[in-house]
Amino acid sequence: MSELTQYFAQNQFCVLVEYLTSIKGRFPVKTEFAGFPACMTLADRVHTDEDIAPLHALASYPAQPEKVLHFSGKGRDIKDFERFLDQAELAGQYNLLLVTGDKLKQHQYGDAVNPRSRYLESVNAVMAAKQRHSFAVGVALNPFKYTEAEKDAQYFKLEKKIKAGADFIITQLGFDLSALKQAKAFLAEHQYPQKILACVMPLTLPRAQFMLKQQVAGIVITAHMLSILTQEHSNNKHNQRDNSYRRCALQILMCKHLGFAGVHLSACHKPEEQAKLAQYIEQYQSMDLGACEALWNELWQLKSETAFYPEIIDAATSASQYQVIKHQHLQLMHKLLFNAKLARGVGAFVFRAPIWSQSFTNKLLLKLEYISKHAIVGCETCGQCRLAETLYVCPETCPKGLANGPCGGTTLDRCEFGDRECIHSVKARLAKAVKQTDILQTVLIPTVPIEIRGSSSWKNWYLATQTD
Ligand code: SF4
Repeated sequence: MSELTQYFAQNQFCVLVEYLTSIKGRFPVKTEFAGFPACMTLADRVHTDEDIAPLHALASYPAQPEKVLHFSGKGRDIKDFERFLDQAELAGQYNLLLVTGDKLKQHQYGDAVNPRSRYLESVNAVMAAKQRHSFAVGVALNPFKYTEAEKDAQYFKLEKKIKAGADFIITQLGFDLSALKQAKAFLAEHQYPQKILACVMPLTLPRAQFMLKQQVAGIVITAHMLSILTQEHSNNKHNQRDNSYRRCALQILMCKHLGFAGVHLSACHKPEEQAKLAQYIEQYQSMDLGACEALWNELWQLKSETAFYPEIIDAATSASQYQVIKHQHLQLMHKLLFNAKLARGVGAFVFRAPIWSQSFTNKLLLKLEYISKHAIVGCETCGQCRLAETLYVCPETCPKGLANGPCGGTTLDRCEFGDRECIHSVKARLAKAVKQTDILQTVLIPTVPIEIRGSSSWKNWYLATQTD
């Protein structure tokens, strides 16, 4: 059992201090932080797509404190992940945080020369890691979502991650306490035993400005927050820095009072930063939740929690009639052509014929499949059609190709890539309209092996079901 797992088992509040492998210079790493046991987390591909991999960076750090290695699925396939698991086992590293990751800096949309960038879904990574029985697996949740559909989609996916075997949950970085309380309440309501940690950071004005300018995926900085930080900074920039540490200390203590298992502390790796934060944690240690919240509200000049909510303009609240009718038609066709016993028997008989060993017949079939499905659902001939598990919204129309649920990068239902609505918000609305939310909560959709991409999913389906 890892030390981290022991902290969880003993309900010992802990601090996971994040280090980026791209940071120049090495900083001392503590085994305790302000009296709480500490682990070191090594983030993956945050700064650039070519950051040193956490496993390779290990050699630069002492064995203690224990590590939590992040693995980001961006630009990676399931085979890359299996290799990572082999290497982690060899290195004696058993604490993982598995995320899909934000958009690759060098994302390829795919053309005649370059294939499209792929992202390994966190749900699939959890499934693969848990087959080994040796890893403590953490997953991400972004509870800072403010339309019904994007929030539903996040929680549907969390249920899949839990079903896949996630041991603990770490939230996205965020400052809205009501969203953190909702996440905690969700786990309690469903009696999920997984521990949850909140991601926090001392939010200075330059950091807030950087995140807004770079549109860092999934992080909410509202106009109110920015105006408070700006006001503080123009009054006295040293006080502004100090207040960011005071707020961070309060958020950590409030999370402890709320029953979080710990925090994931970002952007606080320098000794002087850690000392300042620890000093405020010690100063506020004896305050109860009410007193912490009162001081938090005072520092943020909060009159209402909505100061942490982004402004919502015209969010769709239900699926359109067209989407519902399209779903009904496609579902009916799927049942008749693929699920009916007779259809499966005929399909298997047809596709076992020697004619399908010819490359030109396969190309013809592929073309036919593409033409008949691309215009209707956006098919990209992935070779393993998952439409029945995704409410007939093609996962290939998500720029990351995610089938099991959304990444954390949506902004009020808009995709992180900025050019479309997130397909998982569309699915979440549709699922409620057709009363099939259970599909989005429970069906774990396997990853598509690279080698079958570009083959006919029809042929693959009938031949596979025939041997079931
Ligand atoms: S469609 Fe949704 S899940 Fe896919 S990349 Fe965009 S925001 Fe992420």
